[in-house]
Amino acid sequence: MHGDPPLAALVLLLIVAAVALLLQPWWARRRHARLSRQPFPRAWARILRRRVPLAQRLPWPLRRRLLGLIQVFIADKPFIGCAGQPIDDEVRVTIAAQACLLLLGQSDDRCYPQLRQVLVYPEPFVVPRRQLLPGGVVNEQPQALAGESWAQGQVILAWSEVLAGAADADDGRNVVLHEFAHQIDQDGGQADGRPWHHDAQQRQHWAAVMDEGLARLRDAPSDTLDAYGSTDPAEFFAVATEAFFERPQALRNSAAPLYDALSRLYRLDPTAW
Ligand SMILES: [Zn+2]
Repeated sequence: MHGDPPLAALVLLLIVAAVALLLQPWWARRRHARLSRQPFPRAWARILRRRVPLAQRLPWPLRRRLLGLIQVFIADKPFIGCAGQPIDDEVRVTIAAQACLLLLGQSDDRCYPQLRQVLVYPEPFVVPRRQLLPGGVVNEQPQALAGESWAQGQVILAWSEVLAGAADADDGRNVVLHEFAHQIDQDGGQADGRPWHHDAQQRQHWAAVMDEGLARLRDAPSDTLDAYGSTDPAEFFAVATEAFFERPQALRNSAAPLYDALSRLYRLDPTAW
């Protein structure tokens, strides 16, 4: 007779857990809607004006949406200072604003559901890089990076590079846009330059446009796309994203199919801003 109450309790616990699991997306949506409706702090608006000129260009409906997404991002994602980097509103707002630019056209308020934390270093950080040489020799060389995005839900950024990337909104170089494009790409696991496409036809079209763009960049340098994009499909997508937001007209003029594919993916047309 002693077995019954624990079994009943277990069943009840399972039911409660299942209900909680079912309600979780609804609860998260409600919370995000509440956060994004809050008045945007004036101090944050001043940081945005000073640090993120790209945000100032947005037409009002997109700008309002950006302010909402920034609040969700900052409430949800922990920022961790590394190597003595202090974390304050300046750091949070500057990074969140640029990361959320990529989400402006999406219909839900989920900010990078896989992202668990943002690590910030004061300057480019040094990481060991392994390279396999002929004869099976492994070469380990330290390399200084402006940013990195991990599939395990982490983005790492150098604050000096974040500031430089944000300050010039027309040079097509922006480390935050770059690393968060990788996060979008890593939504389904490893970055492969094939983000967010669920429909087979869309995926096929995307792959054809990206492969052609990558082949063109490997053949000849581009005025619009950084040569680093020729590394592999994932880097091509991240570099193309930087150009899409910061040099949209130039990208459209030089590679219209690529611009159109990115415009459909992000559901945005930055040439109109
Ligand atoms: Zn990259």
